[in-house]
Amino acid sequence: MSEKTIQVNLSPERKPKPESNQLGFGKIFTDHMFVMDYTEGKGWHDPRVVPYQPLTLDPASMIFHYGQTVFEGLKAYLTNDNRILLFRPERNMQRLNRSNDRLCIPNIDEELALEALKKLILVDKEWIPTAEGTSLYIRPFIIATEPFLGVHASNSYQFIIILSPVGSYYKEGIQPVKILVESDYVRAVAGGTGEAKTAGNYASSLKAQEVASQKEYSQVLWLDGLEKKYIEEVGSMNVFFKIDGEVVTPALNGSILEGVTRNSVIHLLKHWGVPVSERKISMQEVYDAYKAGKLEEAFGTGTAAVISPVGEFFWKDEKLVINEGKTGEISKRLYQTITGIQNGTEQDPFDWVVEVHQEAVAK
Ligand SMILES: *Cc1c(COP(=O)(O)O)cnc(C)c1O
Repeated sequence: MSEKTIQVNLSPERKPKPESNQLGFGKIFTDHMFVMDYTEGKGWHDPRVVPYQPLTLDPASMIFHYGQTVFEGLKAYLTNDNRILLFRPERNMQRLNRSNDRLCIPNIDEELALEALKKLILVDKEWIPTAEGTSLYIRPFIIATEPFLGVHASNSYQFIIILSPVGSYYKEGIQPVKILVESDYVRAVAGGTGEAKTAGNYASSLKAQEVASQKEYSQVLWLDGLEKKYIEEVGSMNVFFKIDGEVVTPALNGSILEGVTRNSVIHLLKHWGVPVSERKISMQEVYDAYKAGKLEEAFGTGTAAVISPVGEFFWKDEKLVINEGKTGEISKRLYQTITGIQNGTEQDPFDWVVEVHQEAVAK
């Protein structure tokens, strides 16, 4: 048996599956999980699908003290004709390794990780919800497990994948959100860890989120960490503006996380012949465009919501209401096209979708 053979240990018990209206996001987990260990000298070893269960870790494990960890997020969809589709999953595995590099975590074999993901999904395929807008959320993550209180890169890790059936993000159709422009706290700076999907970035964003929620805003718009002038992201999504017919998104600058959805949106806009540019964009420019009546749309992009239109920004005591607080045409078209490609109801001109075939998974 090779080091890469994925063992499967099925759970003797099966949990009841939730009704599709009880799903929510990330609260319910399936019957199995994938685990693989890393030990210095031995590399990654013992890939296995096991019953979903709590982890037993030494309290000195480095993950608890210094946050050496990375994660990913993607979804599996069930089509009307019962095929299981993933959306550009190789990009998530590549990004996981880029995050690994930044956090000094040993790279994983991307092909093996993808095969593990497929195998786990097939074992728990009955958990993929079928109602419109629902999907199976996939959370791969890696934690540092060496029991040691010195600050250094751990010499042991676990790579784990868990699955969670999730409901439709938009229960009453795609809805614009209100966003507070954040002028005190920052999410990331170039040279820091903003480009990596690592826990610390999210822990440090909670305070701003709390303040925004108290003011009844659903997320914050993050500005750059040096001058607090240039736009970076919205909540934990990438952000786009449509100004005078052109779609603009902040260029990748070392502190912005490169979203798979962001990349897909740019591709589609180019394909449709809609002008799109990746460049620096300041909040002042957005404000000036608004005042000139040229701020046509704004939206966030990410795996969870796909497209999240912005109905209002609050900046320097002023409300900027976009498109009368309604979802814009480009936002709608992007949402329909991307979700359609993901669930198999729309043409897939770029071969983005990867089908999980029973036979494609090595035994
Ligand atoms: C995950 C994430 C995104 C979106 O990435 P997708 O691959 O599109 O889901 C954007 N910004 C941050 C900070 C993220 O963590």
